Amino acid sequence: MSDTTPIVVPDIGDFDAVEIIEVLVAAGDEVAAEDAIVTLETDKATMDIPAPFAGRITELAVSVGDKVSQGDVLAYAEVSKDAAPAPEAATTATTAAPTAAAPAASAFHGDADRHAPLVVIGGGVAGYTAAFRAADLGMSVTLIERWPMLGGVCLNVGCIPSKALLHMAKVIDDAAGMVAHGIDFGGPPTIDTNKIGDWKNSVIGKLTGGLGAMAKQRKITVVQGTARFLSANALQVAGDDGDEVISFDQCIVAAGSEPTPLPGAPDDPRIVDSTGALELGELPKRMLVIGGGIIGLEMAAVYCALGVAVTVVELTDNLIPEADADLVRPLHKHIKARYENIFLGTKVEQLAAEKDGIRVTFSDKDGQRDDLFGRVLVAIGRRPNGTKLDAEKAGVTVNPRGFIDSDNQMRTNVRHIYSIGDVRGQPMLAHKGSHEGKVAAEVAHGEKRAFDARVIPSVAYTDPEVAWVGPTEANLKQQGVAYEKAVFPWAASGRALAMGADAGLTKLLFAKDTHRVIAMGAVGTHAGDLVSEAALAIEMGCDAQDIGLTIHPHPTLSETVAMAAEMFDGTITDLIPKKRTR
Ligand SMILES: Cc1cc2nc3c(=O)[nH]c(=O)nc-3n(C[C@H](O)[C@H](O)[C@H](O)COP(=O)(O)OP(=O)(O)OC[C@H]3O[C@@H](n4cnc5c(N)ncnc54)[C@H](O)[C@@H]3O)c2cc1C
Repeated sequence: MSDTTPIVVPDIGDFDAVEIIEVLVAAGDEVAAEDAIVTLETDKATMDIPAPFAGRITELAVSVGDKVSQGDVLAYAEVSKDAAPAPEAATTATTAAPTAAAPAASAFHGDADRHAPLVVIGGGVAGYTAAFRAADLGMSVTLIERWPMLGGVCLNVGCIPSKALLHMAKVIDDAAGMVAHGIDFGGPPTIDTNKIGDWKNSVIGKLTGGLGAMAKQRKITVVQGTARFLSANALQVAGDDGDEVISFDQCIVAAGSEPTPLPGAPDDPRIVDSTGALELGELPKRMLVIGGGIIGLEMAAVYCALGVAVTVVELTDNLIPEADADLVRPLHKHIKARYENIFLGTKVEQLAAEKDGIRVTFSDKDGQRDDLFGRVLVAIGRRPNGTKLDAEKAGVTVNPRGFIDSDNQMRTNVRHIYSIGDVRGQPMLAHKGSHEGKVAAEVAHGEKRAFDARVIPSVAYTDPEVAWVGPTEANLKQQGVAYEKAVFPWAASGRALAMGADAGLTKLLFAKDTHRVIAMGAVGTHAGDLVSEAALAIEMGCDAQDIGLTIHPHPTLSETVAMAAEMFDGTITDLIPKKRTR
């Protein structure tokens, strides 16, 4: 078997972005170790970059005039089977040993059990989307997933089960809210967490089962096992029936992420991450949610609806710190009245397991205190799985935070290996991952594609929902970008009033010079569904009139988007318009 290995720029001293003045090889050329590949020219000297091993050049990654730095890939080569690596692949102009930024790929000379033209590591939303798209383009695809079901975090322990439980929570809250309007179902509901769990699992099962069937229909080879790189063209997959080696031409890494644990927390079943929290089990009387971000607040909403006294503790001074404060305020007000406590600007110093619960020590500007909880959810973020793949054996760089960076074609520093989804970087969202999956599949198929989405929407499926797309006002202020704002309060929306959702608001942000929509934020029931219109408007370069003059159905919450545009345009009739000249 032959391997394609990147030839990278070694340590070239203090030089950066050095111009290539000559490319000395072409695809198909045989080279001996130490043969010059390219010549670089700095203002002080010219230097040849030698091949670190003997082999055949399969692809050039650079051309004359390109500027390269240490670690950049110059070419890919098949390593000769009997090639010994060059003793020291130093440049002819320097004597320093090559310590490239990108790790040198290992050579794997064993026999593969099978060959896959395209292999995808990870069957989550990013990975299965890439695999399905590539198969639909006619590629032969092997999808490796360590779990028995496809769907990854989103379908199994993330987006979908949490939304099933949030739907249930909303039904409970809405029913309770009707008491004031003359409909009383006769006190708090009887909760059977086993049945709720069965229902949640049936929703998951329908989706993941559907994925398995669709993979089959597309003739995708699904391999269950844990993959690790052996080289830039081979993987080892550890499965229940033993290990196998799969060689590949191209690989898409979609290995996802996992919950970040709280350092020093004891190992105790009453301390759970989001996966544990989705298994409701026997409900505690009091629960602490550590982390006032989206995942923590969604789970808090579920437990509160089920009758648990919930406390949320957040290190920063705001819930959902990445969203604008005006959007979070109505949510904060709503949950403050329901939750036992919301501690902002507060750090959890220690968790200690006691017989009657988990003792938690908090600290804030006023000092330390402690309290006892029956369950503690740690929802302080997620960390990527980039460090668990032996990526260095493929020459793939894993950044210090564990992400595998890739360019807008999803190519990592090793051109035929791509990264997508949570393992590629923030925001860790399913819809970002699936979009990247399509880009990677199309690029792997040879299409001229790149990730060029202008915006990625974010939604907290809390009650009320908080959603935004495009930069926040805080972002814009930080960057000194001039913008204008229009806000439509839901108290003036007939539909919102009829739904008891009049605390919501919809705001649009416009570029000051062009008046094009650059962002939207909304808080209220189904806010997450409303931001899609603004996402399309931003992608299409719409201005306020494009939205305001589009007829929206009445009475709907979607009208609030049009009315915010009319507020900006001065054409609103449902409220008094701000005077505008146009
Ligand atoms: C509680 C919760 C709620 C969420 N809600 C939302 C939401 O409402 N909307 C939203 O957009 N996002 C949500 N997310 C985030 C969303 O789930 C992730 O962004 C998404 O799952 C990322 O998809 P992925 O394919 O990149 O990674 P993952 O879903 O993590 O999938 C990676 C897959 O790779 C497999 N794998 C990893 N390493 C290997 C290996 N070495 N070999 C073989 N297989 C491997 C894993 O088993 C996994 O199946 C939520 C997350 C959580 C935890």
